[in-house]
Amino acid sequence: MMSRPAVIVILILGCALLPMNDLQGTRYHIVRKGENLSYIAIKNGVSREAIIRANDIRNPNLIRIGKKLIIPEKGSNYLNYVVRKGDSLGEIATHYRTTISKLSQLNNLRDANSIRIGQKLKIPLTGSSGTSKPREESLLSTSLLKELKNIRVKNARWKGIVIHHSATTVGSAKGLDRYHKEQRKMQNGLAYHFVIGNGKGMRDGEIYIGNRWKNQLDGGHLKLEKWNKENIGICLIGNFQIHHPSQRQINSLEGLVRHLIKHCDIPSSEVTTHRLKHKNHTVCPGKHFSLKSLQSRLAR
Ligand SMILES: [Zn+2]
Repeated sequence: MMSRPAVIVILILGCALLPMNDLQGTRYHIVRKGENLSYIAIKNGVSREAIIRANDIRNPNLIRIGKKLIIPEKGSNYLNYVVRKGDSLGEIATHYRTTISKLSQLNNLRDANSIRIGQKLKIPLTGSSGTSKPREESLLSTSLLKELKNIRVKNARWKGIVIHHSATTVGSAKGLDRYHKEQRKMQNGLAYHFVIGNGKGMRDGEIYIGNRWKNQLDGGHLKLEKWNKENIGICLIGNFQIHHPSQRQINSLEGLVRHLIKHCDIPSSEVTTHRLKHKNHTVCPGKHFSLKSLQSRLAR
């Protein structure tokens, strides 16, 4: 488009002219064409994660040109804010996605109604809902998250997640892959996109990323082709008709599902079980698997 460069220039100038005094002592960076978060982080001597947290960035790969980013202080986990006329603690808390009680505690405030103009406040960057480390990051290993993030997922490709069990007390992704290839004659092998081990054949809580996920192929875990096209299949090793999934499996499952619903834009209501997807056909993933408890963990 011919007019595009002109628009970009206006955006950059427009933002550069904005006042930058709402947070005293805080550095900013205006995103320019060709810059990504890693570059901006290195340039400013802070970590990419710290910028993501300080700005509550949902999709680090989509940073628009002209966006004004807060550059957090090195090693600090709070911002300095100077109270202006008309400010209330409640409004400041809402704006920075924290709470009045956290602000009161951090700043030793006796009375939340008595902040005064010019008063310096510390605003926490972690430990509050919107700015804290996403829960998936505490449930999944850094290396697994990195691997997951490197897989290119097609937009709007996946509509739901279906959970299965292997119906065997012992098992592994490799074993299931062989079974699906050799016995079930599935060309793409392992019918699920992910397998989570239980310590008997695979490490307890280990997440195996299947070929079908790496290559964004249809699953082979459901009866109808249409369902396999739209649903991500996760299999937990175990027979949950006779025993419960392990705590590590449940933690890994929660982390994985959180990652998937966020990155594939799947509503958490579309996380279901094989039994609910295909009624009166199977007991999978067994009576000891509780979808309700997974749903309540996801809602936290
Ligand atoms: Zn199943």
